[in-house]
Amino acid sequence: MKILIVGGGIGGLSAYHALRKHLSALDISSITILESHESPVRTLGGGLGLAPNGQRAIASIAPDALDHILEHSFPGSQMTFRNSSGSLLGIFSSGRKERYGYEMVMLPRAVVHEALLSGIPEQDIRWGVKVKGVQESRNQVSVEYSDGSTEMADLVIGADGVRSAVKSSLFDGKFDAKYDGLTGVGGFIDLEELPNALQESFQTNGVTMTFGRSGFFGYSMCSPLPHSQPSTIHPFIQWWSIYECPVIPDSKNLDYDAVKAQLLSRHGSWKSPYDEDGTRIYQTIIQLGCRPPKDPESTTSRHDTSVMVLPRFITPRLPSWSASSGRIVLMGDAAHTMPPDVGQGVSCAAEDAVVYALLLKHYLASSPDQALVLTAKAYEDIRKPHIHHILDVAKRNGDAKKEKGWLGEVIRDFAMKIVCKLPESLNDAVFTYDPEAEVTAYLQPKPRSRLWPL
Ligand SMILES: Cc1cc2nc3c(=O)[nH]c(=O)nc-3n(C[C@H](O)[C@H](O)[C@H](O)COP(=O)(O)OP(=O)(O)OC[C@H]3O[C@@H](n4cnc5c(N)ncnc54)[C@H](O)[C@@H]3O)c2cc1C
Repeated sequence: MKILIVGGGIGGLSAYHALRKHLSALDISSITILESHESPVRTLGGGLGLAPNGQRAIASIAPDALDHILEHSFPGSQMTFRNSSGSLLGIFSSGRKERYGYEMVMLPRAVVHEALLSGIPEQDIRWGVKVKGVQESRNQVSVEYSDGSTEMADLVIGADGVRSAVKSSLFDGKFDAKYDGLTGVGGFIDLEELPNALQESFQTNGVTMTFGRSGFFGYSMCSPLPHSQPSTIHPFIQWWSIYECPVIPDSKNLDYDAVKAQLLSRHGSWKSPYDEDGTRIYQTIIQLGCRPPKDPESTTSRHDTSVMVLPRFITPRLPSWSASSGRIVLMGDAAHTMPPDVGQGVSCAAEDAVVYALLLKHYLASSPDQALVLTAKAYEDIRKPHIHHILDVAKRNGDAKKEKGWLGEVIRDFAMKIVCKLPESLNDAVFTYDPEAEVTAYLQPKPRSRLWPL
């Protein structure tokens, strides 16, 4: 079988590892990743929270990649919630190693990319290749490239993100992504640039999330703490702000001064216990963080300290994640755009890949003629209810970041205090998710129902 994976993001790279691990050389003649960026450097982005379930999925297909990730990340299972007056709303544990076997970590997206790229032979990934669309044709799929050329494959995996060309072909553009009115701004700052009190706070604080009437502001370490790391890793933090913005900001032609002024007007007067000598911490972070790129074309830093502006796109829930033949299958954000508000997008993309590969292995062995159809059906049966639950939680979390009147703010603060008192076990269904166990349970013969009780 010849497999083409469209998209070399975390979903596409995970799909590669999962298929290589679970299918035999007899099953696969070739797997190739097609990525529109010219090189790995251009796939860089901001910081990420990688949840215990995502680490479990990655460990099962690329254990060396997980080692690399853990070596370059900051344990971020403790969340401190504050309001814009600097008051503590509560501290919540979310993803402790003692409970889940893996701890929630914060790290640059680029580290996850480089971890997953390692181990993929150069000839199996083509950079600078943009897929325009896909079409089924006589038991194969024809992939059309932006230069007009085409290539045939037996199976195409669309892991090409929120604005997926594969999804667009599958549904004739009916479910294309739309801007959801919230925009994220953020970046990295070297730890040593920050005031001492804030630097010190990272020894005991995990991730800080602050909610105000005019939006949301978060920050955390994004590398291991100094002295707890290989000396080659320069310590730095990530920061991000999310606010409502009615028009889509033009992220490619940014007016950096306007971005800074916008952030200062929203968060500059917010208070923090780490304010010292009349210096407001949020103001300092914004002043330091709102920098234009030094040289956007040549940057190779995995924590480039320029500001990023990311309008958020969402897609409606899709009627299906695959073509009826099973020869075209969507994974990750192409199948279910995951907003950042639950920190699950990367983990879910990796889980999709593992579940799909395990099912394909099973059906290739048990029903080879029907394997692609059966795999696609089982994949959706297993993944859709779980993903829809996470999307519901993400929607609630996103609403909390929207602008509020004074009453809305009081209600939100109260709700946050309650959330911090809820048991950590609320996250168990998501953080304990084990793709292998899910597939095994699905494939187990179901007990026959009886007409009469014994
Ligand atoms: C601001 C922000 C913060 C987030 N924070 C978190 C977080 O903390 N934790 C978390 O788990 N998730 C987070 N997410 C969600 C997460 O980033 C996504 O869910 C995840 O990246 C999905 O991975 P993917 O591989 O499916 O898609 P993507 O990461 O979008 O990768 C798709 C790839 O396909 C390529 N591509 C696209 N079109 C084509 C084409 N036509 N031809 C060839 N290649 C193509 C792209 O260049 C890209 O490399 C965040 C999202 C945003 C927007």
